[in-house]
Amino acid sequence: TDTLAAFDAPLAAAIADETARQEAHVELIASENYASVHVMQAQGTQLTNKYAEGYPGKRYYGGCEHVDVVESLAIERACDLFSADYANVQPHSGAQANAAAFMALIRPGDTVLGMSLAHGGHLTHGAAPNFSGKHYHAVQYGLDPATGEIDYAEVERLAHEHRPKLIVAGFSAYSRVVDWRRFRAIADAVGAWLLVDMAHVAGLVAAGLYPSPLPHAHVVTTTTHKTLRGPRGGLILSASGDADLYKKLNGAVFPGQQGGPLMHVIAAKAVAFKEAMSQAFVQYQQRVIDNARAMAGVFMARGFDVVSGGTDDHLFLVSLIEQGVTGKDADAALGRAHITVNKNAVPNDPQSPFVTSGLRIGTPAVTTRGFSVDDCEALAGWICDILDALAEGIDTTDVEAEVRTQVEVLCARYPVYADSRHADVE
Ligand code: PLP
Repeated sequence: TDTLAAFDAPLAAAIADETARQEAHVELIASENYASVHVMQAQGTQLTNKYAEGYPGKRYYGGCEHVDVVESLAIERACDLFSADYANVQPHSGAQANAAAFMALIRPGDTVLGMSLAHGGHLTHGAAPNFSGKHYHAVQYGLDPATGEIDYAEVERLAHEHRPKLIVAGFSAYSRVVDWRRFRAIADAVGAWLLVDMAHVAGLVAAGLYPSPLPHAHVVTTTTHKTLRGPRGGLILSASGDADLYKKLNGAVFPGQQGGPLMHVIAAKAVAFKEAMSQAFVQYQQRVIDNARAMAGVFMARGFDVVSGGTDDHLFLVSLIEQGVTGKDADAALGRAHITVNKNAVPNDPQSPFVTSGLRIGTPAVTTRGFSVDDCEALAGWICDILDALAEGIDTTDVEAEVRTQVEVLCARYPVYADSRHADVE
C-alpha cells in the first residue's frame, strides 16, 4: 500500500479525474498542450529536492555538480534552438520571466507601452491589476477595429507622445504575424528597450514557421508549456550581444525575483528543447497551423466573423457580436459538449471582460493528440452547430448531447497518453 491512491485517496482521485478529463474532452485552449512522457519523467524526479541558488559554476549551495550539468544543457539547447547567445532557464513562469525582464530594463514608475489585455496582450504587459500596471506607468495599445490587426500607427503615436522606456510586443490572443522589425524601429526612434513576449508562438518560432523576434528584440521572454510543449515554466532569451544586459537579467531573476530554481522543471525544459530540435516537431507545428486554418475556414464558411479574417498561427478569435451570443454562454455550452475553449474579448466588444462576445480557439493540444485537418473541420462544424442553436435562442440540450457523443468517439480514436504517440520524437 505504498501507492499515492492508498496514501491519499481524495487527492489521487482528483488527479485520476483530471487525467480522464484530458483524455475524453477536446482541448482547444490555445495556451495548453500535452507535454511528452519524457518531459513528465524528467519533471517527476529527485531533482525537485535540490537547492541551487545561483547559476552553474556559481552556486550558493554545495552538491550542485549534477544539477549544473542539467541547467547547462538546458541553457545550451535553448540558445541553439532559438539562435540566442543568452538564455536564463530559471523563471518559474512566463509572468516571472516578464517581471524579471522589467526589473532588469527599467525602474518602478517608468513608462511602459504594451498591448492591452482586452486586445490580446497579457496581464504582465501593463494591465492595471498586475505588477506591470501597478509599479510602472503603463500605456496600452491595441488593434485596429477595422482590420483586427495591431494598429502600428497608434503604437508609433503613443510611443512619441509618452516616450516609454520599454515597449512590450507579443500576445495571448492574436492570429497574425507581428512585425517585430517595425516594433524595433519604433523603440529605436524613442530610445526604448524592446521586449518581445513570444509565449504563444515559441513552438512555431522554434520550428521556423513564425518569424523569430530574436534578431529584433533586446530581450525575448516566453513560457515553455504552450506551443513549445514543455513543462510549465518561463524562459528569457537574447541575441543582443549585450553582456551588461545579460548580467542584469540574471540578477533580476535571481536574487531579484526568485530564490532557488526548480531544477526538476529545468530538466524537463532541457528535454522539451531537445524534442523541439527534431524534424517531427517541425512537422507537428506545421500541422498545428494547418489545423487552425482549417477550423477558421469552417467558421467563416458558416457565417461567423473570425477576427482579422483568418489565422497565420495556432489560434484564432471568433466574434459572436453579430449573433448576439456571449462568450460566456458559448464557453459553457461547448463545455457541456466536452469541448474546452475560453471566452475572449474581441474588437468593439460590447460585453464586460468577464462575459465577452468572443471565443479563442487554438489547435496545439488537439494536434498533439493527432487530430487531422478533416477531424478539425468536423469539430469546427459541431461547434458551429452549437453556436447556431445559441444564436437562434433554442434549447441547446439536444445538440450538445449529439456533439458530446461525436466528441467521445473522436477522443477515443486519439488517446493522449495511452500510446505515447506524441512522445515519439527523434
Ligand atoms: N505571456 C503571455 C503572452 C502569455 O500568454 C502568458 C500566459 O498565458 C504568460 C506570459 C504568463 O505565463 P504564466 O502563466 O506561465 O505565468
